Amino acid sequence: MIKPEELKEKIKATGFSCKMCGRCCTQISDNSNLVMINAPEIRRIIGGTGLSWDEIAEPYPEILKGPNEEKFTFAWCLKRNGDKCRFLDENSRCTIYEHRPLICRTYPFMLEDSELLVFECPGTGVVAGDEEAGRIAFELIERASFEQEELEKIKEIFNSAAFSGEKMNIIDSEGVKTVG
Ligand code: SF4
Repeated sequence: MIKPEELKEKIKATGFSCKMCGRCCTQISDNSNLVMINAPEIRRIIGGTGLSWDEIAEPYPEILKGPNEEKFTFAWCLKRNGDKCRFLDENSRCTIYEHRPLICRTYPFMLEDSELLVFECPGTGVVAGDEEAGRIAFELIERASFEQEELEKIKEIFNSAAFSGEKMNIIDSEGVKTVG
C-alpha cells in the first residue's frame, strides 16, 4: 500500500481545494450522484442523526439475478431527492457533514491498487493545503482498507446466503436484507 506521505504529495501535485459547489452531490450525468455507502457508515449516520436506515439509504441500482431469478445487489447508496443527494441543502451544504461517508470525504480522489485516480471536479488544479492534503491521503488509505474488509465479509456472506425469491436481496457486511 502506498505511504500516506507519498500520497499526500501526489494530492498536492494534483491540487485541490473544495469550492463547496455541491456538484459532486448533484446529478450532472447519468447516475453521477450515486454515492455508494456501506453498512457501518449507515449505522454511523443513524447514530448521528436519529434517522432510520430507510431514510438514509436505498439498494444500489445495479441489480443481478441468481440462478432462480432471485434479484440481488451488493451495495447501498445514499437516498436522492430529485437530482441531488437528500442531505444537500438549498445552500449546497452537506447537512450530515460530520457523518458523511468516506467516498464524500475523499472526493474527487480514489485509490485503485495504490494508484491515485482523480475525478472531474472544479476544485482540482488549485493549491492544496498541506493539512487538507494529509487528511485526504490518510482517509483514502483508510477507505481502501475499509472497503477491502467489507468486500471480504460480503463475499463470505454471499457464499452461504439463502435469498428471497420474491423480494430484492441486499447483501452487506451485516448479512442479507430484503426490501420490496
Ligand atoms: S452526504 Fe453530503 S457530501 Fe455526501 S453526497 Fe450527500 S450532501 Fe454530498
